[in-house]
Amino acid sequence: MGKVNRDEILSILDEYNKDEITIATLGSHTSLHILKGAKEEGFRTAVVCEKGREVPYKRFNVADDYIMVDKFKDIVNEEVQEELKSMNSIVVPHGSFVAYAGLDRVENDFNVPMFGNRDILRWEAERDLERKLLVESGIRIPQKYNDPSDIDRTVMVKFPGARGGRGYFVASSTDEYHEKINSMLKRNWIEEEDVELAHIEEYVSGCNYCIHYFYSALKDEVEVMGMDSRFESNIDGLCRIPAKDQLDIGMDPSYVITGNHPVVMRESLLPQVFDIGDNLVECAKKLVSPGMNGPFCLQTLVNDDLEVIVFEMSARIDGGTNTFMHASAYSYLLFGEFMSMGRRISREIKTGVSEDNLDVIIT
Ligand code: ADP
Repeated sequence: MGKVNRDEILSILDEYNKDEITIATLGSHTSLHILKGAKEEGFRTAVVCEKGREVPYKRFNVADDYIMVDKFKDIVNEEVQEELKSMNSIVVPHGSFVAYAGLDRVENDFNVPMFGNRDILRWEAERDLERKLLVESGIRIPQKYNDPSDIDRTVMVKFPGARGGRGYFVASSTDEYHEKINSMLKRNWIEEEDVELAHIEEYVSGCNYCIHYFYSALKDEVEVMGMDSRFESNIDGLCRIPAKDQLDIGMDPSYVITGNHPVVMRESLLPQVFDIGDNLVECAKKLVSPGMNGPFCLQTLVNDDLEVIVFEMSARIDGGTNTFMHASAYSYLLFGEFMSMGRRISREIKTGVSEDNLDVIIT
């Protein structure tokens, strides 16, 4: 099994009727505004929908066509791919698409033209690659500890596959680290082999801002489209309990995302925001060609020294863009009209069609 060949994708794209492009995605995550935005830009839309999950798409009326599948992962099945191609579809990848289809299959078996850079998806999924991209971009990230005996301040400990931060913990010394690891082993929250994979990083005490960027490869410009912050259970609930009662309750904190709310940053932080986005885009061009095309998100914590510290990256549209299905403060500044991230993607595709350079933005 080899990688999907770029020439193969381009020749499929070549066969497409460019006046009849369909914008398609998997029915989950950010698909509502991806499809709504596509309609606003004049495209036909299709949703690949798991049976029983069609209600939101019907009730919000965002899809012209439905491709019903038994399971989300069936989007990579041969028949589904053929149907998508017969509709001249450009697929917009999002977090659930990558999770359900699986990175290997997206890279090796899925030859429907996709918006963005399919090779960069692996760089957000693998912690070492993500770190390499952020470090080489010169971006401030939490300090990493290679050995628990080096712990000299409060750290956060993360495990691979710890979905949504469940099982992450905070420790302030080497002893506390070992105590908590042992307790997790006893409760079967982790296995022995997970201990080796524990990722230990500086705990950043700050406020959370998730910055949604769009890199237009057609204009060679980085746009700040919006920002959100997260509601996380149970940590946000835990913080509402007075400190002395927290100790009595003995609850373990978790960081499971349950929702998002829109935010803006103090204006003096915006130069940092643009610098970070510009640096990442330039570095991505070199490390994983053609680069960070399309939407990407940096999850940050801003400390009281007013440093924007990046602890996580999404190299595709992030779920927090659901906070601006109409417009954000920033997308309004830039466009002066309702502009969601979904609509921005379709606008780029529309420009690609009209300028006959879709090949720059499709992989
Ligand atoms: P996941 O990718 O599993 O959702 P994240 O790495 O995004 O996990 O972390 C989940 C949450 O944990 C974040 O939203 C944030 O609240 C908190 N967090 C993550 N890294 C740090 C850190 N270095 N310092 C402080 N809090 C952190």
